[in-house]
Amino acid sequence: MAAKRGFWDNLMRDLEAPVAARGFGTGWFSGFFAILLAAVGLCFVAALRWPALAAMPELDVVRSWSGLRPLIHATLLGAYALALVSLMLRPRKALGFAALILALGATILGGAAVQPHETHDWGIFFGIDFFAVNMIATGLMFAPLERVFPRQAQQRLFRSEWREDLFYFLVSSMMVQVITFLALAPSSYVNARFGWLDSAQSAVGSLPWVVQFALAMVLTDLAQYWFHRLFHTVPFLWGFHAVHHSAKTMDWLAGARMHFAEIILLRGITSLPLLTLGFAPSVMQAYVGMVYVYASLVHANVRGDFDRLGKFIVTPRFHHWHHGIEPEAVDKNFAIHFPLLDRLFGTYHFPEGRWPTGYGVPEKVPDGYLAQLQYPFVRKQS
Ligand SMILES: [Zn+2]
Ligand SMILES: [Zn+2]
Repeated sequence: MAAKRGFWDNLMRDLEAPVAARGFGTGWFSGFFAILLAAVGLCFVAALRWPALAAMPELDVVRSWSGLRPLIHATLLGAYALALVSLMLRPRKALGFAALILALGATILGGAAVQPHETHDWGIFFGIDFFAVNMIATGLMFAPLERVFPRQAQQRLFRSEWREDLFYFLVSSMMVQVITFLALAPSSYVNARFGWLDSAQSAVGSLPWVVQFALAMVLTDLAQYWFHRLFHTVPFLWGFHAVHHSAKTMDWLAGARMHFAEIILLRGITSLPLLTLGFAPSVMQAYVGMVYVYASLVHANVRGDFDRLGKFIVTPRFHHWHHGIEPEAVDKNFAIHFPLLDRLFGTYHFPEGRWPTGYGVPEKVPDGYLAQLQYPFVRKQS
């Protein structure tokens, strides 16, 4: 056990190594990309081997695509090659060994030639395919963006607490079916009880696609605004939401930090208009996909004041003010799409050209996923 922990610590220390020990030629980049490729390869091999681990029927297209197996093969070969490069270049071997272990694991499970192996039904829990796709898509979009247009130039991808936030990202992707299932409950209740919704549904369904999409944004944001504000107002609910605000560094990954109970409640409530008013399924899918990317964007460590644009549409600086540590930022900017809502309800704060000096909350929220999971139930309410 001690040896295992030692390896893990070494790996983390190496990932977070000082910039000088990460330069080109130190074996850091090869080690990092070896781990990334090996992890992605492992996710896909696992999703093919145990189809029950895969959550998204929509991703069947990916799984049945004839190019997937050659791609997995190339990914694992790339992982092995880069791991070897890293092992040769780098005095510390943790990165290279970690990549080797992951790639070997994928190979032992069958590699690119993996065959489905039906075991017990794992139920509705896992979405390993969704995690892999989500991670690659958002990571590929935002990691380079934050390097090219950084707000805090010295901030790194592997800043403090990145592990917690990656774990949050993992949990919410892996639990995508549980969350969807639980969040659907309120809308199925509403749909079953309120017959008068039928006429509203046919009216909404007959609107042009673009209008439906815009309407979906407005109605969801309206529901989200008040729900979000409630979580800032009711002390017991704040305990859950304080977890989201406990991030002291803002970047695309920080947005994933959210208490499990809050995710379920938030999705259950904010999806109510979307699921009960007769929107076209393609509108709902497009909206949900957009929200995933948009949520990462508004937390991202990207510069740009957007003084004018930020009055009409939520920009990173607008939401960064929601997370600001200074007193002027407290209980401001609840909207996630339209700042107009904050102007209407008196919570708008968008000082020209200025950013918060720090992020977080005055109270001490503990570190780590499990401690934060318990936090709402153990915190002392003042
Ligand atoms: Zn908040
Ligand atoms: Zn936020």
